[in-house]
Amino acid sequence: MAYLELNVLDNAPKPIVGIDLGTTNSMAALFVDGRPQVLRPEGNSGYVPSAIWFGENGRLLVGQEARHQAAADPGHVLFSVKRFMGRGLADVGSELENVPFPAKPGENGGVRFTIRGKEWSPEQLSALILKKVQWMASQALGGKPVERAVITVPAYFDDTQRQATRDAARLAGIEAVRIVNEPTAACLAYGLDQKKQGTVAVYDLGGGTFDVSILAIEDGVFRVLSTNGDTHLGGDDFDRELVQLALEDLALPPALAQDRTLRQSLRLSAERCKIALSKDPSAELQLIAPDRGLDWRRQIARTEFEARIAPWIERTLACCRRALADAGLETRQIDEVVLVGGSTRVPAVRAAVERLFGRRPHTELNPDEVVALGAAVQGHVLAGGTRDILLLDVTPLSLGLETMGGAVAKVIQRNSPIPCQATEGFTTYADNQTGLDLHIVQGERELAKDCRTLGRFQLRGIPALPAGMARIAVRFALDADGVLAVTAKEESTGVSAHIEIQPMNGLTDGEVESMLKSSYDNAVADFDARRVADLKVELGIMLRAIEKNLPGFKAELDPETLADIQDARRAAEAARAGDPKASEIQKVRDALERASLPLSALMMDRVAKDALSGKKLGDF
Ligand code: ADP
Ligand code: MG
Repeated sequence: MAYLELNVLDNAPKPIVGIDLGTTNSMAALFVDGRPQVLRPEGNSGYVPSAIWFGENGRLLVGQEARHQAAADPGHVLFSVKRFMGRGLADVGSELENVPFPAKPGENGGVRFTIRGKEWSPEQLSALILKKVQWMASQALGGKPVERAVITVPAYFDDTQRQATRDAARLAGIEAVRIVNEPTAACLAYGLDQKKQGTVAVYDLGGGTFDVSILAIEDGVFRVLSTNGDTHLGGDDFDRELVQLALEDLALPPALAQDRTLRQSLRLSAERCKIALSKDPSAELQLIAPDRGLDWRRQIARTEFEARIAPWIERTLACCRRALADAGLETRQIDEVVLVGGSTRVPAVRAAVERLFGRRPHTELNPDEVVALGAAVQGHVLAGGTRDILLLDVTPLSLGLETMGGAVAKVIQRNSPIPCQATEGFTTYADNQTGLDLHIVQGERELAKDCRTLGRFQLRGIPALPAGMARIAVRFALDADGVLAVTAKEESTGVSAHIEIQPMNGLTDGEVESMLKSSYDNAVADFDARRVADLKVELGIMLRAIEKNLPGFKAELDPETLADIQDARRAAEAARAGDPKASEIQKVRDALERASLPLSALMMDRVAKDALSGKKLGDF
């Protein structure tokens, strides 16, 4: 029997992907299942390094494979073609130093490279990268063709540069449905267009470029107020610092130090070391070339690396100050700070930005993916997608832990975009306490009993230590599917316990709303109740300290002081047991503090004397 072939009708609208066409890395993302996601084929990061290798007989490699060729055949690899897009030979001058191919002016004022006997325009070269990104995206989508895209460009790109980007897309067989500014895309990824109005600083530190943009949001529309930056500042400079450090240490003979292959493998080792230092306090830098008799390794401390890169970071901050001045704004007038670019994974960079703006920057999304994600959001909207689900997922209610006395320590704040994570430090309340009950709650109220219980678990095996000495880190991680993983770990022994819960299980929008409303309605009463709870805990701690230390100092205190202390203790015990108002319990606490001042003074004297005689504080 013969089978008839049927054409499968595909009525699904063609997707509009978002493409970040970067100087160092490019990638595509698509809005699926209610959120933008980077398109990664099985077993691949989806990142396409913006590198092209030209082999003999017209052979070409693009992306990761081309980058790998750089060590073996640096004379035929082209990086950073974005720097030449839409620019004339006269404008690019020193950029050409890093290109191993001759360049000449093209007929339309652009640059032409002669590579293995063939002429190439920057648009044609960028098209090769876009083709690779398109191929990756299509692979990730199970072979579905990718023909339409929103493509991002730096905010400072002029019309010619934008047109060149469109042309590159056309050459790659992609319709550039829209060209979007990179900082705007980053804001879209964070859902900042949902704000009625506000100001945003987007700090973008990539591989070889730094851009800062100050944007204004007005009714969901972004306006660029100012841009600043440095087209030759980025992660490559951090790598170079490590290369320099290695060369100083190695003291190679000049011929070897200039060797391109050695230098390239040292560069790669430097980058690996740098990336490891973003999460570890120290990492190995190495140069191993058995054929040259080289086997050099050194452990680099994060602090040493940070000292080296501090001047570069300082330069980015100077750009930020200029951008602010141009926008006529002060740091405190910036409502949101967004970090973009792989190099903002360096903790010292994050800390510096946070210090400058006096607020915590957005880092919940991968900084090297956020531009592509935002472009995908824009693509989704242009494809007719609904606007209301486009909001990046946030946790609608705060997540926290019950602390001693029944108050709540919020670990993840309401409205944090997910995925997100946060860690809080806790300690023990009693001497020799070896177990801890962890009560995880959700809600905005100040007391645990008024919030929703999500789960409870216990941490056992805490070493017996005086109260307040144990260090317990509790980490909350809320993943993109809304699963909350809580891990409690005692730092000195490493004992830990873990639980996973689904916070939004069974909660309807209406319930979330009513939980929020109840927190507003009860704000004042809650505040008072929380103070009472906190003050009771504090009283407990003070009473225990007095109880523990009074016997040892009794002989040195006059009877009047002793009587005062006893009175204040009794009042404090009563307040703890009873149901006083916050103001009353505050009075009792202050009285206890006053009465026990002479005792505290004696204790401090003893500590100081013992410290001078060599006894450490920890010996108490
Ligand atoms: P671009 O926007 O220039 O295309 P990216 O945003 O992809 O570049 O950033 C690339 C840079 O980020 C490279 O210098 C790379 O070494 C650096 N980088 C990537 N991951 C990390 C990390 N974990 N720590 C420090 N730097 C990183
Ligand atoms: Mg970038």
